[in-house]
Amino acid sequence: MDKVIVIGGGASGLIAALKASESSEVIIVEGNDKCGKKILITGNGKCNYWNSDITPNHFNITESSLLKDILSRKEEVLDFLYSLTIYPKIKNGYYYPMSGQAFSIREILFNEVKKRNITVLFNFKVTDITKDKEKFVIHSENDMLLADKVILACGGSSYSKTGSDGTGYLLAAKLGHKLNKPLPGLVPLITDTAYNWDGVRIDAGLTLYISGKMSGYELGELQLTKNGLSGICSLNLSGRVSRALDNGKRAQIRINFMPPIDDNLYTWFNKRNLELADHTLQELLESIINYKVLDVIFRVSQIKPDERWENLSEEKRNILISYIGDFPINIIDTESFDRAQTTVGGIPLEDINVKTMESKIIDNLYIVGELLDVDGKCGGYNLAFAWISGYIAGLGVTK
Ligand SMILES: Cc1cc2nc3c(=O)[nH]c(=O)nc-3n(C[C@H](O)[C@H](O)[C@H](O)COP(=O)(O)OP(=O)(O)OC[C@H]3O[C@@H](n4cnc5c(N)ncnc54)[C@H](O)[C@@H]3O)c2cc1C
Repeated sequence: MDKVIVIGGGASGLIAALKASESSEVIIVEGNDKCGKKILITGNGKCNYWNSDITPNHFNITESSLLKDILSRKEEVLDFLYSLTIYPKIKNGYYYPMSGQAFSIREILFNEVKKRNITVLFNFKVTDITKDKEKFVIHSENDMLLADKVILACGGSSYSKTGSDGTGYLLAAKLGHKLNKPLPGLVPLITDTAYNWDGVRIDAGLTLYISGKMSGYELGELQLTKNGLSGICSLNLSGRVSRALDNGKRAQIRINFMPPIDDNLYTWFNKRNLELADHTLQELLESIINYKVLDVIFRVSQIKPDERWENLSEEKRNILISYIGDFPINIIDTESFDRAQTTVGGIPLEDINVKTMESKIIDNLYIVGELLDVDGKCGGYNLAFAWISGYIAGLGVTK
């Protein structure tokens, strides 16, 4: 029987170990004193572990046919999660455990590891992997293990206090893999101007421009901080911002503060002004746009809230409309990995056989989860990718 060592007992590593244990002797080596620390903090402690629409268009990846092949295994994986007794509560397509507790997911997975007599070595931080003839030698500071096959499941660089401190990238790169520079993803953005709208949470439309070219649109929850943007729709654009800024490009987000309307904004104002005759601009807008946001819009557009639409010059009307529907925010940076939910970049899928997750560079080495250059949007996509890629590798080692 082959001896398989899984490096990293997080989301992808636990599933990989469970599947691999059906055909091989499996050891998990984990740098922490517990498995699945990051699982516990996902989805604000509720663990949004899956989505009803697992397709490549919810991921930022250029080579989506490879990702498509991986994701095509999603039904098998969801069935496997069910078989482990993970039952979902589904809200708008987002899957959470019925318990509403991420803890239950970690416990179910880890208890299954124990039931299957998989050996887990805690506080075993892998520092190097070498290959001696057909065997892998797994080194930690004080120890050494031999394996026939290795599944590398060390996670990315986000929230390093959970154990994923980026060492997996170094291990893979040292073995000859190409590494697309890891950068923070699903991360708050830092803007060049401070506005007095700290703490506002609204629904808005965000359009991302990279060096002047439109390169993304998201509609949904936005959180405004003094000099930053967060919330689901901003987070979903943040990976592209990270990459652009790292490449020396400019990033600007334009915010549409109006909920979707059928008319263009100019026509909307004309109609509303007729309906609400003798009302100030503030009165036309105050039930539509958050007060703090409205204050900022009036201040930057230099239009007084007590002015009336019918008295505004054409130029001022257009200025007001552009700040409501197209408010420009220059992004100068992102927060660090310590506030990022995922990593953009990693080992390219082109270096992996996506039918088994085996490396094309090193035989019998499998790479899974956030270590790969695949990052999903908010909504359960990153964990889904971790489970699916781990599952495929766990089956792949039987080849
Ligand atoms: C705050 C937060 C909230 C999130 N919420 C969600 C969510 O709701 N839904 C979602 O889909 N995704 C969410 N994510 C992302 C998701 O948690 C990750 O994408 C996923 O956990 C990646 O799985 P992984 O197995 O690749 O890595 P991890 O789960 O990070 O596991 C890697 C494991 O490897 C171990 N390790 C690392 N290096 C070594 C080494 N050298 N030797 C030994 N062990 C090592 C680590 O200690 C860790 O246990 C969230 C992330 C964060 C930070």
